[in-house]
Amino acid sequence: MNSTIPAPKKLQPVVPADELFKYQDGASAKDLFNSGATGYAYNDFVMLPGHIYFGADDVSLETKVSRNVTLRAPFVSSPMDTVTESDMAIHMALFGGIGVVHYNNTVREQKREVDRVKRYENGFITDPKTLSPRDTVADALEIKKRYGFMGIPITSSGGMESKLCGIVTTRDVEFVKDVTTPLQDVMTTELVTANQGTTLEQAYNIIKKAKKGKLPIINERGELVGLVARTDILKNRDYPNSAKDAKRKRLLCGAAIGTRKEDRDRLDTLAEAGIDVVVLDSSQGDSMFQLDMLRWIKTAHPGLDVIAGNVVTQNQAAHLIAAGADGLRVGMGCGSICTTQEVMACGRPQATAVYRVAKLAAEHGVPVIADGGVSSVGHIIKGLALGASSVMMGSMLAGTQESPGEYVYRSAPGGDGTVRYKKYRGMGSVAAMKAGSAVRYFAEGENERIRVAQGVTGSVADKGSLKRYLPYLTTAVKHGLQDMGVMSVAQMHEYMRADNLRFQVRTPAAQAEGGVHSLASWDREH
Ligand code: GDP
Ligand code: 5GP
Repeated sequence: MNSTIPAPKKLQPVVPADELFKYQDGASAKDLFNSGATGYAYNDFVMLPGHIYFGADDVSLETKVSRNVTLRAPFVSSPMDTVTESDMAIHMALFGGIGVVHYNNTVREQKREVDRVKRYENGFITDPKTLSPRDTVADALEIKKRYGFMGIPITSSGGMESKLCGIVTTRDVEFVKDVTTPLQDVMTTELVTANQGTTLEQAYNIIKKAKKGKLPIINERGELVGLVARTDILKNRDYPNSAKDAKRKRLLCGAAIGTRKEDRDRLDTLAEAGIDVVVLDSSQGDSMFQLDMLRWIKTAHPGLDVIAGNVVTQNQAAHLIAAGADGLRVGMGCGSICTTQEVMACGRPQATAVYRVAKLAAEHGVPVIADGGVSSVGHIIKGLALGASSVMMGSMLAGTQESPGEYVYRSAPGGDGTVRYKKYRGMGSVAAMKAGSAVRYFAEGENERIRVAQGVTGSVADKGSLKRYLPYLTTAVKHGLQDMGVMSVAQMHEYMRADNLRFQVRTPAAQAEGGVHSLASWDREH
């Protein structure tokens, strides 16, 4: 599947091809993960280095999160109410990944979060917010409050394909005291416009020359048909690696839903808001509910990619693939906040789960997301090496500035000052279920009065902003791939399946040796 994304050709190994893998040390992934009796976690093994013939910057992290949705970096933020709302999803996409907006909220709230992501950056804005000359300053301020922007084209009818009369920007309204003032009294009417048919590049050049914030696009009758924003030129420059949809150049955004009847209405609304991928959120995905939902989506929204799950076995995966899944989420009981394996006695060690499911999924061209249990960069690399095309994270991202929720302060270990934390809770925790997520954990059947929690509430240390953290993760993953001698995620999968990526199980002593040890004290500086 990923082999459709080619590795750059210009660089070739300096050792002869037949000497690259001459001495096969260690074990293949097959050797390690095909034993039915033993399951491995990421920490149980390590990977042997390969031959480096390129720089870390030459490594491409382009990958697929589902059949038709391409990412520039293999990072996905989890649909949890302490992880992914619009701020997280915007930053995930700005740095090449994707955020999946949680659904522990009303449909309206979830749509608002998706709207914010999809409206954050654009090429041509084909459906800009517009008002009429008779609307008021208060109407313009309401748009600003809801969406965060204010360059509002004013048309005679207040809608698209109607004569463009002016534009209202922050500067037109900021000193107006009476918010009932009609916009015709404050709007700017001397406009620089471009004609329908102008290319994006031409539009950007006009904006740069005219030094305007917005460029309305009009047809031959002077009617508004689109808008281009100056800020988008800057966003393109500042975030060259962002993950966008090909057609409208908007940031990618995913959203999670459940499998109940009312989730169908929820999905209709989210699809209208422009989500690129929907995630069917269930801890045990191989259910009649999910199969029904998948089949319905494939008929009702044939153009939308569906990520199904969660699964950890090939049988589970096969059922979801047969019902039309475009991607699979793998992981059961490995999440940092998760108690499923303890409470339900069900699940699978994550490394084995990823390898086994990805093996089958690859035969059907279905990308796999390794979901949960990631607590270091090395875990991300291992998930990818075992066949996952991307990695979903909760705890790794919950401590960043862009996750929802307030910081809490607690005394530092040792009592020296205070440390900043952010709250992080499992969606199967009692607190999250009370707030609405009981469905994911089958804890809200008709007669189900007793909730069995499968998660806990906790906190994670402050990680600062994703603006620093995601570039760090990207660079670190590239270095990992470089050490293994692979230039892309696709090439790593090819090497793994050809037995050229070599693994070794770590004994408890080897694990201790592989971590920091034998020091009186130490500090991990970032
Ligand atoms: P403004 O000066 O208050 O309009 O804000 P900016 O120009 O800084 O931000 C506008 C951003 O919002 C750009 O990235 C646009 O692509 C985006 N955007 C999305 N939808 C719309 C819309 O309907 N109208 C406007 N003006 N901007 C939009
Ligand atoms: P983390 O990255 O923190 O290790 O794990 C995040 C993943 O754990 C989520 O993407 C989701 O699949 C899973 N998860 C989230 N909340 C819960 C929960 O309460 N119980 C269980 N079993 N899994 C959870």
